[in-house]
Amino acid sequence: MTTIDKIDRRNAAAPNGHESSQSVLDAVVIGAGITGMYQTYQLREAGFSVQGYEAGSDIGGTWYWNRYPGCRLDTESYAYGYFGLSGVIPEWQWSERFAGQPELLRYLRHAAEKMDIRRSYRFNVRVTAAHFDESTNLWRLRLDDGTQAACRYLLTAVGPLSATRMPNIPGIETFRGESFHSSRWPRGEDEGPREVDFTGKRVGVIGTGATGVQIIPIVARTAKTLRVFQRTPNWCTPLGNHALTPELMAQLRGYDSEAFLRFLKSTPTAFPYDRNDKKASQATEEERQALFESLYSMPGYGIWLSGYRDLLTSKTSNAYLAKFIANKIRERVKDPKVAEKLIPTNHAFGTRRVPMETNYYEVYNQPNARLVDLRETPIVEVTPDGIRTSDELHELDVIVFATGFDAVTGSLDRIDIRGKGGVALKDVWKDGPTTYLGLQIAGFPNLFTLVGAHNGASFCNIGVCGALQVEWVTRMIKYLRDRGSALVEPDTSYQERWTEKVYEDYAKTLLRDTDAWWVKTTTGPDGQVRRRALIYIGSAPEYRALCDEMAAKGYEGFVVR
Ligand SMILES: Cc1cc2nc3c(=O)[nH]c(=O)nc-3n(C[C@H](O)[C@H](O)[C@H](O)COP(=O)(O)OP(=O)(O)OC[C@H]3O[C@@H](n4cnc5c(N)ncnc54)[C@H](O)[C@@H]3O)c2cc1C
Repeated sequence: MTTIDKIDRRNAAAPNGHESSQSVLDAVVIGAGITGMYQTYQLREAGFSVQGYEAGSDIGGTWYWNRYPGCRLDTESYAYGYFGLSGVIPEWQWSERFAGQPELLRYLRHAAEKMDIRRSYRFNVRVTAAHFDESTNLWRLRLDDGTQAACRYLLTAVGPLSATRMPNIPGIETFRGESFHSSRWPRGEDEGPREVDFTGKRVGVIGTGATGVQIIPIVARTAKTLRVFQRTPNWCTPLGNHALTPELMAQLRGYDSEAFLRFLKSTPTAFPYDRNDKKASQATEEERQALFESLYSMPGYGIWLSGYRDLLTSKTSNAYLAKFIANKIRERVKDPKVAEKLIPTNHAFGTRRVPMETNYYEVYNQPNARLVDLRETPIVEVTPDGIRTSDELHELDVIVFATGFDAVTGSLDRIDIRGKGGVALKDVWKDGPTTYLGLQIAGFPNLFTLVGAHNGASFCNIGVCGALQVEWVTRMIKYLRDRGSALVEPDTSYQERWTEKVYEDYAKTLLRDTDAWWVKTTTGPDGQVRRRALIYIGSAPEYRALCDEMAAKGYEGFVVR
């Protein structure tokens, strides 16, 4: 029995009488994605009683839910995963540089077995409410199967991209054909998407973000007609995926995995790319073109993450790259009018997530495909026969909603989280998140939001940054146990400073001018539009150094009682 068990057994006279002291846990982890599983494992290994809850029927999170055709990583497979879990990286055989969803889910299942994690989870159950009970210092949870639980520490690993967003289009429920949201695609037998046969069908895809750009070329192969409904064009760049042969894997395995992790940890977002230390203005036009060409032909996010260091801070630097990519789009799309519609005009390169594509632009050269520009002809309604825009009815047999997520805070908003005094987290955050280190919120003691808002693991290669965060949080909870402390929450002045830093860092970049999934946009009573960043844009090494510094100083900025 842990120290916390003992405290709980004294304190846990449940006010509503539904819980026994037996049901009081040291910790609850919500979510069984790559982050939640590891958190549950780490706490269990450290001797805490821990229960995980997962809405899906099995582990996997993102890679469990998103089974649409073409779903894959845009982080290099071998750089995404559990470095801290001995055995899993070295012995896994990746088949592609950017693994597809079925392979990722197999990898996570392998890791789950290594951790023997399923025994610590209940599946098919959603946490609907979590209220902090000040009389016992416990979090009291309600689940959608009518059960309840109580715990000392509540750790949310509910995912930055897991709350599905459906567009609010009149008549959507009247459509007579088949329709799918990308993150709720029907499941096939091999863990991948159920084969949806588009052959001979008239298919409409709404959305041209990272997901739409993955699905569209696949649908275009067999659909009789494809209509792509685009609201905002994105700056898309080639993924450059290729097979990882056993020989290549053997070569990769030959790398010292600790040294590779050290390298990932040294880069701003834990992707395997270093940023160029030059500003674009320090290069000649020829040098810039040569660099852009080489980055464009390289697989992966190099073009976003390893170009000139002022890409996201200087409009001039950004315009050089944007012009280069725009010309690539013009080269690849034969109809100049269509090409212009595919070139973003309302945001700088890299200020929204850059979709990685494989033959995306070539789709628009196919006779069966047509771009519908919703800025010119907005969607009016969905009818039983298809989608009506302001100028015509597009008759369809299938609609694919690639409309993304209510990102970062969406999954937390869907839980009724109440802290001290019954205050709802949703209300505290109505104008944007306020946190300390993106991990805790004043007034919500013992709640830890992993890979959450304003947190250094969210704008990152999450496979690596999420795990590093889990390890840090586990050390902190062990520290609290060792001190016999019952409560931890941020000091409000530290929280204010962190929140200000997040917003200030953001405001220094070109991201400040762009609507993206990582921004909460609100319109005030005065009609003023306010954009608040949901993510921390600073560098991941700087974030972790700060967390480590605070830990070394006895968790400075946290009030521990
Ligand atoms: C299509 C796609 C591609 C991506 N590609 C990359 C990439 O290349 N590189 C990268 O770093 N990141 C990528 N991401 C981001 C990805 O979400 C993270 O890499 C990572 O999977 C997040 O893991 P997680 O465990 O934090 O959350 P998730 O994997 O989202 O898991 C959260 C889990 O919590 C569960 N949950 C939520 N609320 C509740 C509740 N109330 N009760 C019970 N269970 C709940 C959900 O069902 C879900 O299973 C991608 C995301 C998507 C959608």
